[in-house]
Amino acid sequence: MEFQLTDEQRQLREEVRKFADEEIRPVATEYDVDEAYPHEVMDKAAEMGLLAPHVPVEYGGIGYSSLENAILTEELFAADPGIGLCISSAGFGAEALMEFGTEEQKERVLPEVTAGDAVMGSAISEPQAGSDVTSVATRAEKREAQGASERSGSAAEKDGDEWVINGSKMWITNGTVADYFVVVCETDAEVDDRYSGYSQILVEGDRDGLTRDKITGKLGIRASDTAELRFDDVRVPEENLIGQRGMGFLQLMQFFDETRTAVAAQGVGIARGAAERALEYAEEREQFGRSISDFQAIKHKLAEMHTNTEAARWLTYRSAWAVDNEAGDLTALASMAKEFASRTAVEVADEAVQVHGGAGFVNDHDVERLYRDAKITQIYEGTTEIQKNIVARELLDEGM
Ligand SMILES: Cc1cc2nc3c(=O)[nH]c(=O)nc-3n(C[C@H](O)[C@H](O)[C@H](O)COP(=O)(O)OP(=O)(O)OC[C@H]3O[C@@H](n4cnc5c(N)ncnc54)[C@H](O)[C@@H]3O)c2cc1C
Repeated sequence: MEFQLTDEQRQLREEVRKFADEEIRPVATEYDVDEAYPHEVMDKAAEMGLLAPHVPVEYGGIGYSSLENAILTEELFAADPGIGLCISSAGFGAEALMEFGTEEQKERVLPEVTAGDAVMGSAISEPQAGSDVTSVATRAEKREAQGASERSGSAAEKDGDEWVINGSKMWITNGTVADYFVVVCETDAEVDDRYSGYSQILVEGDRDGLTRDKITGKLGIRASDTAELRFDDVRVPEENLIGQRGMGFLQLMQFFDETRTAVAAQGVGIARGAAERALEYAEEREQFGRSISDFQAIKHKLAEMHTNTEAARWLTYRSAWAVDNEAGDLTALASMAKEFASRTAVEVADEAVQVHGGAGFVNDHDVERLYRDAKITQIYEGTTEIQKNIVARELLDEGM
């Protein structure tokens, strides 16, 4: 068993840390306060090759493994989770194209995303469908292209050459800035089993009938763009279907192990960022004529924060290794890592504010932001409760 990163992985970590220190940390508070998407930082991230770097080289990416992605994500989130999410979500949904997309879809979309010329979004959740993805109600129906039926004289029952999409999606990251969405739609309501009626469809952001409303007032990750999407007769060509019709739900399940590992890495980054800032502050701040780091109560907090962060990191690396090696226990590991690392992020950020005292309650110090940002890691990509359900299901071998 090897507990050391390779030279290349260490170099990756150093380079991203330098980028995060120089380009993200100095502007993090500003974007948080303004709830603004950091276009300028995104341009620099593109130059660094940080956008969708898991995309294979032939489509403009670097082909990073899940482990390398975890290393990179930790660095971005240790600097600032809001901007970190903008960078690491630029290719949300790219996995679906990489794995199931046609050559035309891959060549059209992926190089634009890795170059920083386009952003993607993954639209699964709806106002009434959150944890229960099988209650997705956005419908996509096959119809003929407008004008075609008059020309041919044939009517609606003919299987058409366009998808017409109706419904709404909620909480969509990159919702108002994305150029492409991978949208989970119900395409085959009549099938008997719960999982086979859904398909993933590529929808360009500028399609007629697509309305996007930015959601403001978020607790944290405020630089990240979040929106509600409405589809009113949005038409896309049938070639925009991703992979096989009816397989959308099962396609999604395949990526959750990877994306949950990435959220675990986000949690590790937030925890590390908070633990480091608490250590620095504890060494500077004096009370009762000595450094607060002299007090055993503070020493113990620092020790626990750093220990738990280290534990979360290794569980995350283990999960990333399982993804990269397609290990049999990867689903349980990904949920364990996501649940544990997100809980660690919340707890460590809480303690970091405590170590700062009153200074931690205002945004002069980063821990105030990290404390607010940490919470989202327990909610998106499946809540804490859902992760525990999955771990128990895997332990009890209950099947889906
Ligand atoms: C900032 C932000 C960004 C997001 N980005 C995206 C995105 O890009 N794309 C996207 O598709 N979605 C996105 N989401 C949506 C996110 O994935 C959902 O919010 C999440 O899955 C939870 O769904 P919900 O909010 O409907 O909560 P609900 O499912 O209504 O859950 C409410 C509570 O009930 C609990 N609960 C529900 N079912 C069970 C159960 N079976 N057992 C035990 N407890 C249960 C939950 O754990 C939670 O505590 C984002 C959300 C936020 C806030």
